[in-house]
Amino acid sequence: MQQNSRVAVAERGLTRYSIASAFALAFLGLAAFLGPTASLLDASHRALSISIEIPTTGDIDQQLAQRYFLLPAAQVDSDAAAPAPQPAEPPGPIEQIVQVQKGDTLMSLLTDAGVKMDEAHAAIAALSDVYSPRKLQVGQPITLTLLPNDPAADDSQSDPQAGLQLMAISLQPSVAQNVELIRGVGGDFVAEATNVPLHREVMRSAGIINSSLFEAGQADGVPIGVLSDVIHAFSYDVDFQRDFQPGDRYEILYQRYADGEGRLAKVGDVLFASLTLSGRQLRLYRYTMPDGRTDWFNPKGDSVRKALLRTPVDGAKITSGFGMRINPILGFSMMHKGVDFGAPIGTPIYAAGDGVVVQMGVVSGYGNYIRIKHTARYATAYAHMSRYAGGIHVGSHVRQGQVIAYVGMTGRATGPHLHYEVLVDGKQINPQSIKLPTGEKLQGKDLKQFLALAANIDRERRDIARSSLIARNP
Ligand SMILES: [Zn+2]
Repeated sequence: MQQNSRVAVAERGLTRYSIASAFALAFLGLAAFLGPTASLLDASHRALSISIEIPTTGDIDQQLAQRYFLLPAAQVDSDAAAPAPQPAEPPGPIEQIVQVQKGDTLMSLLTDAGVKMDEAHAAIAALSDVYSPRKLQVGQPITLTLLPNDPAADDSQSDPQAGLQLMAISLQPSVAQNVELIRGVGGDFVAEATNVPLHREVMRSAGIINSSLFEAGQADGVPIGVLSDVIHAFSYDVDFQRDFQPGDRYEILYQRYADGEGRLAKVGDVLFASLTLSGRQLRLYRYTMPDGRTDWFNPKGDSVRKALLRTPVDGAKITSGFGMRINPILGFSMMHKGVDFGAPIGTPIYAAGDGVVVQMGVVSGYGNYIRIKHTARYATAYAHMSRYAGGIHVGSHVRQGQVIAYVGMTGRATGPHLHYEVLVDGKQINPQSIKLPTGEKLQGKDLKQFLALAANIDRERRDIARSSLIARNP
């Protein structure tokens, strides 16, 4: 049964492609006629170029013209009421698309298609230089170009299927790779693997944030990696649980790479992201500095990277702020010297800034505790964790955003949360109210370059927004 379905596919391919090939050959004939215009043939027509090597006698241009230029008219005629007897036309190469079925080998595919055993052997041997036929996958299409022997030129041939000459094999092991086998002028097979040229596409997604940026973006098909990059970029300025209001909006521009048929090969960088929160728009542009570092900058060219992250844990809610409160466990009023972020046990906790771990271990009340020294004056502390991240110990150098531990409820805690403190000169301060020291500002030539890039991105944003036919999230 499977065998049959493959044959059916092959036959459909045969009819459709033999006509297409005829037209292509007509074009080739014309191109050859005109001489220099042959350069019109680009890489995508390469497979057809084998038709030039059809063994013929006499003037090939003339023959091709005679064979194929009249074909469309002849076909119209044959559809008419009185079918005229077809003149004996020498057959041209035909393309067959065969689909790999379970149990197939390249050998069986070729011989089933009518290729002689010794030719199939030679073809597979040549192909093996660039591609292992063992890697054939069920369902994978393979295009065969076959040249029937010309009955007019060779009287001994009566069965057109007998001894089909294999001219080319073409297959695509992955979106990014093409493998081709072509019969060369001398009759030998030559195999070649080429990387498929991927083209860059800039994608834009924009809309209203109903519940979370993550949800809005995912509903619009934005890849998860892109969304988490954007969330990290904004995490210096935005508390993702607290700051969203009805009507808040987002816009993201990112790159993706696709092959010639628009199939996704890989996701590229995020270029731009904006959030409009309660009418205030924050815009961030990704920019790579001349020294190779890449960072996010606001439209003025200031890095959004702050010395310290405002929220050192993803998707957390502030459950208790800094200040006087009735301690829920001790029952009397006392100073709460940090901010509590409610999050499920096991949620990763990030180092709020670059620094060195100066304390790590159980501290009464705090449970599992880490303190990181960032600068001579600034430090941050994290408490109640369920466990520490691997490789973190006193003396570890940590990078901003590096996972140092996981949310828990060790020590005096009524539920799983991170207790987070910012210390200046050893004293806890309110991390929500301090103006954190900002990162670098681009200047001079850097700034000029950045502003030009930002202007380009803005132009691209407008162009895409204008040309997108459907406003997906008005
Ligand atoms: Zn706390």
